Amino acid sequence: GLRIGVLALQGDVREHARLLEQLGAVVVPVRRASELAAIDALVLPGGESGVMDRLARLTGLREPLREVIAEGLPVLGTCAGLILLAEHLLDGAPGQETLGGLDVTVRRNAFGSQSDSFETDLEVLALGPPAVRTAFIRAPLIERIGPRASTLASLPDGRIVAAEQGRVQGLAFHPEATGESRFHRRLLEQARGR
Ligand code: GLN
Repeated sequence: GLRIGVLALQGDVREHARLLEQLGAVVVPVRRASELAAIDALVLPGGESGVMDRLARLTGLREPLREVIAEGLPVLGTCAGLILLAEHLLDGAPGQETLGGLDVTVRRNAFGSQSDSFETDLEVLALGPPAVRTAFIRAPLIERIGPRASTLASLPDGRIVAAEQGRVQGLAFHPEATGESRFHRRLLEQARGR
């Protein structure tokens, strides 16, 4: 089976692992650089992107992660994972840096405290029907999309909440929280086609 890495420094690693195993993948928790060597794709989970950034630097994972993403490894980032993938970050934690890979400008915690969390249905052209039921939890927003990236999903008011670039998908929301598996299936297809 395909070996799918899940960055396991912090965050909702188990939810992604469970979903990937249901899809028949072998899950590799990634905590150090050597674990990046034998994976076919990578998931960057939700959590706290500032903490993940700090831990990635402490564990020496930051540069190896940048390299595998730049080399074209299929990657799915959700919420904090989208923040890690953004080329440009607004409202980051003090000193927070990103890995890059997705030509977008992302604002962290963009939905404010009042509507911290909500669920909604999204129509995603790349997936087709039915609509994606998904959860936004202290979610970021894609404020600008650069020429190398394209929109994968937006809210009914037009705000962009998912983008892709080559084999990199970045989602502001949590598909794993509502059992939506089609973005993960896409990741596995990309891994297979590689
Ligand atoms: N607000 C978090 C961050 O800044 C992301 C929230 C999430 O991943 N659910 O990283």
